[in-house]
Amino acid sequence: MKEMRRDQITGDLIIYSSYRNKRPHDTVKINKKEEDEGKINSDKCPFCRGNEHLNDIPTYLIEEDGEWIAKSVKNKFPIIDLETEHIFGEHEVVVETYRHNGSYYNMSLQEFSNVFDMYIDRYKGLSSRSGIEYINIFKNSLRDAGASLMHPHSQIVSFNLIPAEIIKELKVARSYMEHHHENLYDHIVESEISHAKRLVYNGEKFLVFIPQATRYNGEIRIICKEEKKIDQWSQDEIGEISYIYKKLFKKWEEYNDGEIAFNVIIHTYPLSGDYDDVFRTHFHIIPRKFNFGGFELSTNLFVCGTDPEELAASLRFY
Ligand SMILES: [Zn+2]
Ligand SMILES: [Zn+2]
Repeated sequence: MKEMRRDQITGDLIIYSSYRNKRPHDTVKINKKEEDEGKINSDKCPFCRGNEHLNDIPTYLIEEDGEWIAKSVKNKFPIIDLETEHIFGEHEVVVETYRHNGSYYNMSLQEFSNVFDMYIDRYKGLSSRSGIEYINIFKNSLRDAGASLMHPHSQIVSFNLIPAEIIKELKVARSYMEHHHENLYDHIVESEISHAKRLVYNGEKFLVFIPQATRYNGEIRIICKEEKKIDQWSQDEIGEISYIYKKLFKKWEEYNDGEIAFNVIIHTYPLSGDYDDVFRTHFHIIPRKFNFGGFELSTNLFVCGTDPEELAASLRFY
């Protein structure tokens, strides 16, 4: 069965092909173990304790018993800096835990909560610089997702512009509001709850679900139900999203039969402009098991073969 579907949030056109994932291919390659991967501390890793001299002074530090357990530092090799007039911003690395062998598959609730505390603090810090329009928060896990270091970390980049992907999503959301007089994200939350079969978790603050169609096979989305920017989140939001991460990544590991490379992208509100009524903070969790071929690159049409209901049923945790 084949049908045309549209990603409700990005507007991407998807050819949904229910047997596409069943075509023969080599078994999914799990990233091979790196040297020192199983150790709690590696003397070669710049993010491990004992190697603090390899980083700048932390911009945020969480300590326990006199030792740091998580921190944010300036990126030594920034994508962006304050040197250029036309495009500028800052790039920080959030070292999510002191444990070199930590990962989203084994981190504790407290460790996840520390990550969100740091995001919120750094979001506030970086967005206070004049001329900054957007704060981009993302994680690359394992080499196939673009990670150059294995120590668990995520990244925050501030920009003097709104990235094209966000502009695309804002246009889709604005157009939905104009035609339906309703917030697109509220509509998605309500319709996914009533359909129920694509739901992974329905919390007080967040909805976790598998969209009907996405550019990336097997993508998971999380929508913040309320009109709240990340710096307005309270302990309620931090507690619930940490719980979601803990449960979801455990389920995902079982589903994938091991750890896979992935990206997490948090799409935050632009810092200026009135988008509050049309937008919502949301997450894209993207498995990097599959790559694009010439068809996708030449057409901007995406072929998706993951059955969203089947995937949601495997990951559901309520
Ligand atoms: Zn390390
Ligand atoms: Zn998005």
